[in-house]
Amino acid sequence: MVRLDFVDMEDKKKIAHSLFTPFKLRNEEEFDTIIIGSGISGLALAAILSKEGQKVLVLERHYVAGGCTHTFKRGNYEWDVGLHYVGEVGTDTELKMIYDYICDTPIEWADIGEVYDRIYFGDELYEFRKGADEFVEYFTNLFPIEEEGLKKYISLLNRVAKSAQLFYAEKAIPEFVDKIIGKWMRNSYLKYASRTTQEVLDELFISSKLKAVLAAQFGDYGLPPSKSSFVMHATVAHHYMEGGYYPVGGSRIIFKKIAPVIQKAGGEIFVNAEVDKILIEGGEAVGVQMASGQIWKAKTVISTVGIEKTYKSLLPENTQEKYGLTEKLKDLNPSVAYLGLYIGFKETAAQLNFPKSNFWIFPPEYDHDKNMKDFAEHTLDGFPVVYISFPSAKDPDFEQRHPGISTIEIVTPVEYSSFSPWEGSPWKNRGQKYDDLKEKISQQLLAYLYRYLPQTKGKVDFYELSTPLSTKHFQGYPNGEMYGLESSPARFKNRFIKPRTPIKGLFLAGQDIVCSGVGGGIMSAIICVSAMKNTNYVSKIARQKKRA
Ligand SMILES: Cc1cc2nc3c(=O)[nH]c(=O)nc-3n(C[C@H](O)[C@H](O)[C@H](O)COP(=O)(O)OP(=O)(O)OC[C@H]3O[C@@H](n4cnc5c(N)ncnc54)[C@H](O)[C@@H]3O)c2cc1C
Repeated sequence: MVRLDFVDMEDKKKIAHSLFTPFKLRNEEEFDTIIIGSGISGLALAAILSKEGQKVLVLERHYVAGGCTHTFKRGNYEWDVGLHYVGEVGTDTELKMIYDYICDTPIEWADIGEVYDRIYFGDELYEFRKGADEFVEYFTNLFPIEEEGLKKYISLLNRVAKSAQLFYAEKAIPEFVDKIIGKWMRNSYLKYASRTTQEVLDELFISSKLKAVLAAQFGDYGLPPSKSSFVMHATVAHHYMEGGYYPVGGSRIIFKKIAPVIQKAGGEIFVNAEVDKILIEGGEAVGVQMASGQIWKAKTVISTVGIEKTYKSLLPENTQEKYGLTEKLKDLNPSVAYLGLYIGFKETAAQLNFPKSNFWIFPPEYDHDKNMKDFAEHTLDGFPVVYISFPSAKDPDFEQRHPGISTIEIVTPVEYSSFSPWEGSPWKNRGQKYDDLKEKISQQLLAYLYRYLPQTKGKVDFYELSTPLSTKHFQGYPNGEMYGLESSPARFKNRFIKPRTPIKGLFLAGQDIVCSGVGGGIMSAIICVSAMKNTNYVSKIARQKKRA
């Protein structure tokens, strides 16, 4: 077993540099729009605005672009950070249409297969099968008395998805229209958003086992059933109902496909480019000041880095006070933080017989809320949920890029406070105690791997654990949070969460504006540009597609 001591040289170059024209100096006022953050929301927005003829400047604090969709390497091994599967791209859906629109050439999506998620409670296995009918049939076989409830559940997921369209459209319509029809647009979705996942599951089902199984994807948004809003649960369950898909070439391909659209319109993407302040003059956003002191100006500034961080860290204090921002954000909390174990093998996914479907592993008690609580209080034996993903098996192109090797990613939620004692210590040099803790956790997570995939025992060539401090260091999430804001009912009820801000020229996008997930990031870009241009961009893109 080898642990590579890998120091990424690029990390040392903490100077903003352009990915397209590294040595060309550009005028500080040359861009129409500045976008803070190069995650999927920032890139999608930049691509849409580029197609409208704008020159867009994307500023990214990390040394690679892509946000949660970037990949990282250690030697020949490569792992995804925040994309293991997406839904709604297997057929001609709205989301697929938007993916195609923002990319220079369409992303190819590899089907994960008939079973996209395998759910383990101890040794008991359940499968999430592609297709609503198959889903109902499979669970009806296991829980015959729940057949009616299962059918109602599916139609409820569809109703929530439908009402989401009006709810999010309302966030983009002009204020005077909102005054007339806003309430009507919001109401249906809010009815579901105000309830917890547990409340709705309790109403539909008798079996506690089935309820816990159906809530197993809570790891996709980080909040257990009695705390999460039902709309978040429904969004995820609906998103994957017709199967899980993986981008051929890994998640990094998303940046590679979108970037040329921005570049062709004269836009730029800068990495190692941390924005320190949004510049406000006469009550209007006029540009940004970088951590390096450099100033970029533009008519419009869009932040995708999180609502709380934008309002509380990037805006001058007097602006925060003027608009009572602290008060408006008071009910919102960050989502849970996470640990990621990145593992490498010197054999291929086929040789090691890796599956494509994700593994979700839970303690045998079928009680997510109790498990999460006990874990936070350090009284749980093990982890409340362990997620295992097999990118080298999902990606048909992996073997070509990385011959003879394979990778696995393991993710589990963790409280940020467990790592706060090392806050402020330098990356890769946080001290022996931190390294010992990381090694202990790595071994605990590897034990799950060996139990559920015994063929991996003795085959691990490399592993490295990321902690919430890694998330904070690289992506600047203040609490190492995994999914931006937590998906509580309060979050969805908060009407201040929208792309328009009280400050002229400043807009927001990103997972906080819609919901976590790559799809949520893309839809936030659509809502943001719709608000900027007072035009429904879903319809506009659909019309353009029809004409093409
Ligand atoms: C471990 C993990 C697994 C996940 N798995 C999946 C999955 O399988 N499927 C799925 O759909 N979703 C998944 N997600 C969620 C999904 O990746 C995110 O919800 C989505 O990508 C967020 O996109 P975003 O653009 O809003 O934010 P980000 O991708 O976080 O982009 C924001 C960017 O802003 C940058 N930034 C921050 N501060 C500054 C600053 N001051 N100046 C300049 N730049 C700054 C950050 O570095 C970051 O690159 C996962 C997330 C995680 C963490």
